[in-house]
Amino acid sequence: MAATILIVEDEPAIQELISYNLRNNGFIVACAGSAEQAKIMVNDVLPDLILLDWMLPGTNGIDFARYLRQGARTKVIPIIMLTARVDESDKVSGLEVGADDYVIKPFSPRELVARIKAVLRRRLPEASDEIVETGGLKLDPATHRVTVTDRADKSKLIEVNLGPTEFRLLHYLMTHTERVHTRGQLLDRVWGDHVFVEDRTVDVHIRRLRRALEDVGKDDLIQTVRGAGYRFSYQCEVDIP
Ligand code: CA
Repeated sequence: MAATILIVEDEPAIQELISYNLRNNGFIVACAGSAEQAKIMVNDVLPDLILLDWMLPGTNGIDFARYLRQGARTKVIPIIMLTARVDESDKVSGLEVGADDYVIKPFSPRELVARIKAVLRRRLPEASDEIVETGGLKLDPATHRVTVTDRADKSKLIEVNLGPTEFRLLHYLMTHTERVHTRGQLLDRVWGDHVFVEDRTVDVHIRRLRRALEDVGKDDLIQTVRGAGYRFSYQCEVDIP
């Protein structure tokens, strides 16, 4: 589940340097040379994060960030501003329009990648490659495996067999536990933006996910909240040794 990063940068050499490093770190990369071009791309498909250069021809980075923050569909996209400016007041205005972080040029690609990962971990935990452990389940995005420790033999791991959609659904729920997600929210976050499927689809996949978890006695983790949606919760689960 690699995250897609949109680089908005007008200098080809920098654009290339960044995209090379991001691809090497497993990200999917899209590039735009201007805010106008980026706007068209964002309208088409929402990236998981935008790296936004401040100084751009036409609409500048700050105005584009403001535009993104005002759109119902785009307001939650994590943004990292790139800039050659070091003025403290510029930094403040960057953060005021809602940028999540701020990287000053020249930067080391390693630092940039670390910053991107930190923002994604915070804002989009389901796009991170980090292992998630909650409610007795262990989900590894890198290997696409979900395991449970065997109750009888703690040294044994039992694998939960999931289809790709159920895996993504579980990953999202495990990184956003204890809150209720409507079917619409799950469609947006798990199936993706601009995907026109019915709410019922969510129910079908929740059912499949529960069935898979039932095999390891963990189906109680996925709760139906009447009239609202679904919740991943392990608060009331008592682990009997
Ligand atoms: Ca520039």
